[in-house]
Amino acid sequence: MSKSEFQLIEAYFSDPTPVSRDDVILGIGDDCAIVAPRKQSQLAVSIDTLISGVHFPHNTSPDAIAYKALAVNLSDLAAMGADPAWFTLSLSLPETLPSFSREAWLAQFSSALFSLAQQYNIQLIGGDTTKGSLSITIQVTGYLPPDAQMKRAGAQVDDLIVLTGVLGAAAIGLDIALQQNESSYACLSEAEKASALKALNYPIPRVEEGLSLQGIAHAALDLSDGLLSDLGHILTASHVGAEISLEKIPLATSLGCLDKNTAWEKALTGGDDYELCFTIAAADWPELENKYPHFTVIGLICAEQGLRLLDQEKEIKLSIRGYDHFG
Ligand code: ADP
Ligand code: MG
Repeated sequence: MSKSEFQLIEAYFSDPTPVSRDDVILGIGDDCAIVAPRKQSQLAVSIDTLISGVHFPHNTSPDAIAYKALAVNLSDLAAMGADPAWFTLSLSLPETLPSFSREAWLAQFSSALFSLAQQYNIQLIGGDTTKGSLSITIQVTGYLPPDAQMKRAGAQVDDLIVLTGVLGAAAIGLDIALQQNESSYACLSEAEKASALKALNYPIPRVEEGLSLQGIAHAALDLSDGLLSDLGHILTASHVGAEISLEKIPLATSLGCLDKNTAWEKALTGGDDYELCFTIAAADWPELENKYPHFTVIGLICAEQGLRLLDQEKEIKLSIRGYDHFG
């Protein structure tokens, strides 16, 4: 790293960071960070890369990029019921950025990054910085209890399938951001469009919810690619099937321009919602529903393989790409 790059890191990422945890012995600035994990715990580790032009449009603001890069990683911790602890950041930064100086870009990026890190008490403990096309890799670590059991393979026959929130807003947000499928958002007010874009760029990692599911959820994951495809992972890993009642799927208000079937298709196949989808024993539902009114039961795990979509108890076929794969 050249002197000036070193100074950039010093200026925007150096210790002490706004989050300072007592299980971090040595943070940013040395050859390695040193952490002292709590006794009797296990560690959950995950990593995700966001590449400009692939995972976000080139003109995305630095704060939206920072937020999403950390939020999607926090969402993976949430899906395992893990308690966020530390993260590292690998940043590839071009010489010139659209409408920003490197300094201004980094200032916005680091301020958004630290603000989300503070919310979840996760500490940046190191990283790497290189020159190249814009890409951001974050690796997160979180604590799990020693008997953690929220794997994709844990779903059991007769389990309820539950969602932590509404689906479809991020898919509409993506249409708006890319100015595609205009009919899907043409009827929305400016405020409704802004809220769909917010769902896309600022998904809320369901960390608190994930923690409270530890010991209750048999299987869980976060919805990054769309319910159909992601629930498919649970079904395949658990060797079970499922029935989903379409009318029970909580639809985002951003889907309001679409007819019923198109709205369902969007909600089932649209990515980037980052809600959790998990399965539980029916006996555990009343207490959970009481605690989290935004949770919804959308279906049931069955012994018969495949995913069946029900409209008023009757099985229907939607013209969904990838649907046959699970049918
Ligand atoms: P090394 O040459 O030992 O790999 P670097 O010069 O790459 O060290 O980094 C110096 C220090 O700054 C290290 O502690 C590293 O973890 C930290 N660092 C570098 N880039 C970043 C970054 N983007 N975010 C956080 N910490 C970083
Ligand atoms: Mg390095």
